[in-house]
Amino acid sequence: MILFGRKDKVLKTHELSEEVCEHCGKKGGVVSIFQIYYHIGLIPFIPLSRRTASQCYSCRKVKLEKNFSPEQKEAAKLLKKEVKTPIWTLIGASLLLIYIFFNLVIKFS
Ligand SMILES: [Zn+2]
Repeated sequence: MILFGRKDKVLKTHELSEEVCEHCGKKGGVVSIFQIYYHIGLIPFIPLSRRTASQCYSCRKVKLEKNFSPEQKEAAKLLKKEVKTPIWTLIGASLLLIYIFFNLVIKFS
């Protein structure tokens, strides 16, 4: 079992049916936005960055944002605008704060 580390989760996907793949030359793919977060014991702890990546439907080739075509860049921009950092990425940090708070209350009461 992994006790802590970085994980990512897809937040939203945008389909680009006219996008031609540089790798296999076929049309159709997606641009997805991921939330990267730090987890401890699989509980999301602190949100790190959001990343976008594209994938071709045919050959499954994954492309990172620095290699995006103008259409993919546009889709990535829209996704970043639409999708905010989800609140669940802060569950661990919130629990820790509550824990510290109650410990202080017990100590000083
Ligand atoms: Zn392809």
